[in-house]
Amino acid sequence: MQISQHCFALLGFAYTPPWSVNAGFIVGDEKTLIVDSGPNTLAAATIKGYAQVVRPSNQLLVINTERHLDHISGNSYFADYGIEVYGHVGIQRQDSELKNDIDEYIACTPNAVRRERQEAAIVFTDTRIVNPIHKITTEIKFNLGNLNAEVLLTPGHTPTNLCVFVPAERILFCGDSVVSGYLPNLEGGSVKDWRQWLSTLDRIAALEAEVLVCGHGPVLQGNNIPKEIQRVRTIIKRAILEEKAPTSYELEK
Ligand SMILES: [Zn+2]
Repeated sequence: MQISQHCFALLGFAYTPPWSVNAGFIVGDEKTLIVDSGPNTLAAATIKGYAQVVRPSNQLLVINTERHLDHISGNSYFADYGIEVYGHVGIQRQDSELKNDIDEYIACTPNAVRRERQEAAIVFTDTRIVNPIHKITTEIKFNLGNLNAEVLLTPGHTPTNLCVFVPAERILFCGDSVVSGYLPNLEGGSVKDWRQWLSTLDRIAALEAEVLVCGHGPVLQGNNIPKEIQRVRTIIKRAILEEKAPTSYELEK
């Protein structure tokens, strides 16, 4: 979907339930910056197709908003076309980790015969790990041709999280710093990370973006932005207090 004159969101690429994952792109006069490469090559092909058709003469670039595999596993597809990938220096993943993810995805198949055939692996055809070649250590700016995109370092969900802001249109691609509707994923983090996450949320709120393209879930606009930031903030605060991720509670019987 087009969310502003130069910005587009691509929503709902399949991933391990309950997750679907988003991507997007920003189209300048000379370059198109793709934000996240999708969870697999099939998604990456869709992302590249849309990004190219909007302005075919543009050079394509890719940036990953974090280290989790649902945001970077399309990198190999882009790299095979010579398209360069940017991402936080801390993104260093391995094919063995991707294999674990694919096994988890296969295990979600309800039909036993299809599960046994490992049919769900089709979604990951030719997918392999390619880490970013441009390693981001400080905040940088892309000049896409009469349009700037700013990279903000926003640790919290992981130490590698970043956001991409388009000031001219007040669009923020915020990755998993704000997930829309979902319980934020605090697994794998510590109280220290979650405190950083709260600072990141303050920074995101202060940008007063008109549209937030979240890493997961629907695009947010208007009043829904502060509302959703507040919802995530409340969940993180509780986690800090109880030193426990919101997904680690036992269901009450
Ligand atoms: Zn994610």
